[in-house]
Amino acid sequence: MIHLRSKDEIAIIRRSCRIVADTLELIAKMVEPGVTTISLDQEAEKFIRSTGAEPGFKGLYGCPATLLVSIEEEVVHGLPTDRRLEEGQIVGLDVGALVDGYYGDHARTFAVGQVDADHQRLINRTRECLNLGIQAAVAGATVGDIGHAVQQHAESAGYGVVRDLVGHGIGTRLHEEPQVPNFGTPGKGPLLREGMCLALEPMLNMGTPEIFTKDDGWTVRTSDGLPSAHFEHTIVITAQGPQVLTTYDNEMN
Ligand code: MG
Repeated sequence: MIHLRSKDEIAIIRRSCRIVADTLELIAKMVEPGVTTISLDQEAEKFIRSTGAEPGFKGLYGCPATLLVSIEEEVVHGLPTDRRLEEGQIVGLDVGALVDGYYGDHARTFAVGQVDADHQRLINRTRECLNLGIQAAVAGATVGDIGHAVQQHAESAGYGVVRDLVGHGIGTRLHEEPQVPNFGTPGKGPLLREGMCLALEPMLNMGTPEIFTKDDGWTVRTSDGLPSAHFEHTIVITAQGPQVLTTYDNEMN
């Protein structure tokens, strides 16, 4: 079922979302050539616990990490290791938190040092897709309107939109109904209503949309080995329009 959250519930989700936004702000400052991905994970967990919250992913579905770290051709769900980030790479960082039984979910893709124009363009376009998806998430529209907005902007730039992984409702579970694909037909799919909390998360591939899961059982990567980017915000649909919860100042990125 699709939950419509009360003001009190949204207030808790907002706290959870601010913690993940603050976490990525903190970790963003550590993203540089030479840093190990496990050190980013450890710092993220330390910070989240210092707020009194719990990591949202760790332990869920057997996930061993607080921060999922996906480098270059890795799309999402990369596990932190002693691997070091390298100049010119892009890295997706995805983090969840749990506060008083409610989740927040947030992801951004960062440049490691200086990246080339192709990588930067992929990052920029993916962030734009998220923002367009958010703008489409108004009461009375549909899930298909969100997907259509994302797909149009991604494919018009020649990028592949990942179809096997989707955004989702969020609340007392990390993944709730409805599923929110990054492709779709305007006017189709579940109706968007005030009080719905959604995690929108476009994943754009420089090449093919096809992906597979690596032998570690977690890391999802592109089939052609070309880079992928991922941005995610948790939002609530209000009478005044969509509101981004995973940011402190309510900017759209
Ligand atoms: Mg998510």
